Amino acid sequence: MNVILLGPPGAGKGTQAKRLEQRYSLVQLSTGDMLRAVVASGSDLGRKAKTVMESGQLMPDDLMIQMISDRIEQPDCARGFILDGFPRTTAQAEALDNMLKNKGLKLSGVIEMKVDSEALIERITGRFSCAACGAGYHDRFQRPKVDEVCDSCGGTEFSRRADDNEATVRSRLAAYREQTAPILPYYEEQGVLRSVDGMSDIDEVTRQIETVLAAA
Ligand code: AMP
Repeated sequence: MNVILLGPPGAGKGTQAKRLEQRYSLVQLSTGDMLRAVVASGSDLGRKAKTVMESGQLMPDDLMIQMISDRIEQPDCARGFILDGFPRTTAQAEALDNMLKNKGLKLSGVIEMKVDSEALIERITGRFSCAACGAGYHDRFQRPKVDEVCDSCGGTEFSRRADDNEATVRSRLAAYREQTAPILPYYEEQGVLRSVDGMSDIDEVTRQIETVLAAA
């Protein structure tokens, strides 16, 4: 099963992708996570990516297309993958179609997570994660059970993404509106687009996605 999760920053794509990964034994392919690893490596490309990401703009299409094409070739993707953060432009969506065709793969579904854009700023600026295991939390909506201790691994160090501040979030939302939302009609015309209510609680969103995938 090969699935795309589409939606603006803060829609919950990463959270749901992690759940689907376990439920269906798929691999989460998050281009944002891949880029953050490149930034952490301190390479020349990492320095460029850091600047682009902190401005809330998008990285060049050719680079992102190559990154996903290489990743899909890896053996662990053979059992299926969930794309989280890719495609983000029409050029990326078209390149993905060609890539899948050349590799003899198909999309099982494209799931749009519909959210109220007003709620996104608060959702994103309040989020943080455990530095040791990556478990996600939120200042208001999902605090650790014991303050400053990770529920999952007991870690006591937490981190926030550099691009989760309000100014960058506004640019990221604008990039979504202008460059990513135009992909929706592209998939609608192909008859593969389904939507779920991303404003529901996390378990309910998972249930809606599972229903969509059961019918795929
Ligand atoms: P994300 O973790 O998906 O919110 O991505 C964080 C940042 O990485 C974005 O704001 C972009 O700067 C960059 N990025 C991630 N995926 C892509 C992509 N498919 N195309 C272009 N830029 C991307």
